[in-house]
Amino acid sequence: MRRAGAAGVRRVAMLSVHTSPLHQPGTGDAGGMNVYIVELARRLADLGIEVEVFTRATTGGLPDVVELAPGVLVRHVDAGPYEGLAKEDLPAQLCAFTHGVMQAEASQRPGYYDLVHSHYWLSGHVGWLAAQRWGVPLVHAMHTMAKVKNAALAEGDTPEPAARVIGETQIVEAADRLVANTEEESEELVRHYAAAREKVAVVHPGVNLERFRPADGRAAARERLGLPQHALVPLFAGRIQPLKAPDVLLRAVALLLEEVPSLRQRLVVPVVGGPSGSGLAKPERLQKLAARLGLCDVVRFQPPVEQDRLADWYRAASVLVMPSHSESFGLVAIEAQACGTPVVASAVGGLPVAVRDGVSGFLIDGHDPADYARVLRRFVDRPQLVEELGTAAAHHARAFGWDASAAATADVYTGAVQHHRLAARA
Ligand code: UDP
Repeated sequence: MRRAGAAGVRRVAMLSVHTSPLHQPGTGDAGGMNVYIVELARRLADLGIEVEVFTRATTGGLPDVVELAPGVLVRHVDAGPYEGLAKEDLPAQLCAFTHGVMQAEASQRPGYYDLVHSHYWLSGHVGWLAAQRWGVPLVHAMHTMAKVKNAALAEGDTPEPAARVIGETQIVEAADRLVANTEEESEELVRHYAAAREKVAVVHPGVNLERFRPADGRAAARERLGLPQHALVPLFAGRIQPLKAPDVLLRAVALLLEEVPSLRQRLVVPVVGGPSGSGLAKPERLQKLAARLGLCDVVRFQPPVEQDRLADWYRAASVLVMPSHSESFGLVAIEAQACGTPVVASAVGGLPVAVRDGVSGFLIDGHDPADYARVLRRFVDRPQLVEELGTAAAHHARAFGWDASAAATADVYTGAVQHHRLAARA
């Protein structure tokens, strides 16, 4: 029997058109948003709110419905060919996707979904229609915004198209509530998209604190991964694309080796993840850069791994390095800290919330490799910094459990339903 969820919300239709919560994050279109949806949906189900996630089928033979966890279903929607469609092609499939969502709902009793929660602008467009048709509120999370990304592009990176900006603007107008990861994102919604301030709620994403924890420590994790015990290990983890700037880490490492050549014997730079987004156009770009910088002996490219394995990479690392150009939150920063590893990150987007400068890591303005080399040098000169900052990092991360994020999201749902009812009456 179902417990009652947040005021009047028993079941949510969650929309994730372009990427499935069942996909492996860390490459292609699968990243933080997939993790966000999985973790949020599970925790909402624990609170008594059932979640059904609609996503586009991208391979043949998928079951129509998959149970992801008790109270959480994933529904595969046929919309366009399974393979060969890039995210950029999906606006042409939104009508087909919406049709699939409407059909699924039509086969249920009336009033089956109490609310629509859409993720990323493509889903927002589907949610806009579905919510209106079903007479329920639309809650939307942008995850990333074209205007914000375009204002901070890496050199030579492809800007987001005007059609996306227009689409995002329409959703901001149509949604009953907008969920922002941070105060900064909330301000960006107001500033760039003229969002009504009272519509925007800030909910910090979380970290799975059972999975990401210091566990048996750095030495044990290094042993499991075959990494030398006394090496400096600056780690990059995530989708490989210019926006994430893994190239800045490699250039910084090259500078560091010029300064301290003896470090080469005890330096390993793992890069965990696969090509994504505009990085797909030149998937071997980073490997070529490593070769040009003479770093082939220190850089270790690893394909994306499951989160339990990724936790070991975080634990094994001396420091996680995130020189991103924009980052709506940066889950890997909080995951690494939860594992007891400090983070060196650019001071963009959600990273100043995720990282406490000087306490759990260091924030750097800009993307000059020399600045990153200087900060990495501090870990070379004072190796105990890893444990000092790492302990504080694990403490800091404990404030970011998903339970709190889900409870705050349930509150947003309650507010959206109440507001929607009042508006309907008026
Ligand atoms: N991730 C993973 N395996 C990998 C690399 C990354 O599972 O090999 C996950 C990681 O745990 C994190 C997500 O991918 O939860 C990346 O989220 P983030 O917010 O850092 O970046 P985004 O992909 O949203 O840009």
